[in-house]
Amino acid sequence: MGNIAMVDLISQYRHIENEINDRFREICESSAFIGGKYVKAFSSDLAAYMNVKHVIPCANGTDALQLALMALQLKPGDEVITTAFTFVATAEVIALLGLKPVFADIDEQTFNIDVEDVERKITPHTKCIIPVHLFGQAADMDAVMNLSRKHNIPVIEDNAQSIGCFINQEDSKGYTGSIGNMGTCSFFPSKNLGCYGDGGAVTTNDDDLAHALRMVANHGSAIRYHHTMIGVNSRLDNLQAAVLYTKLPHLDAYNTARQFAADYYDELLSDVEEVVVPFRDQKSKHVFHQYTLRIKKDRDGLANHLKQNGIAHGIYYPIPLHLQEAYLGSEYGEGDLPNSEQACREVLSLPMHSELTRPIQETVINAIKAYYA
Ligand SMILES: *Cc1c(COP(=O)(O)O)cnc(C)c1O
Repeated sequence: MGNIAMVDLISQYRHIENEINDRFREICESSAFIGGKYVKAFSSDLAAYMNVKHVIPCANGTDALQLALMALQLKPGDEVITTAFTFVATAEVIALLGLKPVFADIDEQTFNIDVEDVERKITPHTKCIIPVHLFGQAADMDAVMNLSRKHNIPVIEDNAQSIGCFINQEDSKGYTGSIGNMGTCSFFPSKNLGCYGDGGAVTTNDDDLAHALRMVANHGSAIRYHHTMIGVNSRLDNLQAAVLYTKLPHLDAYNTARQFAADYYDELLSDVEEVVVPFRDQKSKHVFHQYTLRIKKDRDGLANHLKQNGIAHGIYYPIPLHLQEAYLGSEYGEGDLPNSEQACREVLSLPMHSELTRPIQETVINAIKAYYA
């Protein structure tokens, strides 16, 4: 067997290539690159799938977060609480807008934001909470929304890694991204619903926010050449929308394939003491954007061993955001968010995608077993 990659977008493409190629040709022959029918069709299909009133398409998942924060019209210095254990984009847009990122620790088991720590960090300046549904499993949205109501603070769900994950809590019932005031998606190629370039969207049930989001994404303008607020240019293009429109009907099947693969990894690893398989809570159905282990013995040695055997892996994430050079204010130091720091030392993600086969998984796990033998 050749090298084993984290994702396999080519095999997935093979199943839908006729539709994709026909739609690409149609778009090229009509030169409807900006706007266009697939942008509309995909946005309304995604709204129907997620059961949200509005989908505002945009250029990528980072922009989606930025648009969502801009739509809230916060003031410089306002504080936004998010998790220290996530992709940098979440904190980056906060800082970029002159707002202050405040980092909360994570739950040891789920890697998701620790809502009790969020509550401890709320001040009179806290103007938004951004939970991230990390690796494909929902944050505790009942707890987040309780805090939100209690302190009257809006919530943006960073849903870049969990599209299609259904939450089934006491009060929060629905897809990730449909519970808070807004949700943000990324359609980066390797995400659970990925296009063939960059893409993103903001989801909301709030008409006023939807209006603000559309304006912000379009240079602060609702009427052409009339700019009532400062905005940006952030668009999903028609080619990317055509890919997403073609793939959305398969999203549940893609996620089911990931879940089956995760089950099989769990089974193969059941007698490997050095690793802890992903914890699945009962609050939502994990869609395994990543299959992330905790390695209790010599993580970096194992990572190197996998690499030497041609097996890709990911360390998501090696450094928590509160210890990143760019975000190191005087406020944070080592030991402040111990669960995030420990996760950074222990995590290792295995190849995970919708086309994974049992022989590939067996090769991956045999390599792990050989390392500890
Ligand atoms: C991928 C990702 C983003 C950013 O999405 P892009 O489309 O790459 O800009 C934001 N947040 C999280 C948690 C992500 O995983």
